[in-house]
Amino acid sequence: MRIGVLGFQGAVIEHRQHIAATGHEPVVVRYPEQLATLDGIILPGGESTTMGKLLNRTGMMEPLRQRIAAGLPVWGTCAGMILLAKELVNDSTRHLAVMDIAVKRNAYGTQIDSFDTDAFIPEVSPEAVPLVFIRAPYITSVGEGVRVLCRVDGHIVAAREGNMLATSFHPELTGNSAFHLYFAEMCRR
Ligand code: GLN
Repeated sequence: MRIGVLGFQGAVIEHRQHIAATGHEPVVVRYPEQLATLDGIILPGGESTTMGKLLNRTGMMEPLRQRIAAGLPVWGTCAGMILLAKELVNDSTRHLAVMDIAVKRNAYGTQIDSFDTDAFIPEVSPEAVPLVFIRAPYITSVGEGVRVLCRVDGHIVAAREGNMLATSFHPELTGNSAFHLYFAEMCRR
């Protein structure tokens, strides 16, 4: 399958490596024309304000929103999750606004703004997966159609709504491809 990674900035190379490691073809996406050729797309971590601006400037925002609404599997990691959220509790900006989640940016504050841990996420892997959080957001509430996949310290850090997957953390920065395999399964359907 051809799995895209939005290629403006952020953890693009790392996602590409995991896609290739799971036996699929990574495609760095920078132009709207590329969207038609994809089986799924990953929105990487980075800086959501910058990525949102670049989505608008390149004319990608609306075509990408439409492709996702039409069923294109999408996975947002960290800043990518912020791009997907319909609601941002501490920011007046909205980006793709396709997923029925409310998200708090930089939710872990500045003191402990980066940490790692691990968690059992039965839907994704039978073994614990490592979770890396970097100035991470978390989900403060979810709509009816959204399934919570993982909580850390009571906060929602992974969720799924149909063709959309959102994680606060960065599986691409670990050696564990469980989330990339899980997303590839979403793309196969
Ligand atoms: N704090 C960043 C933002 O708000 C996200 C950080 C990340 O993607 N690692 O966009």
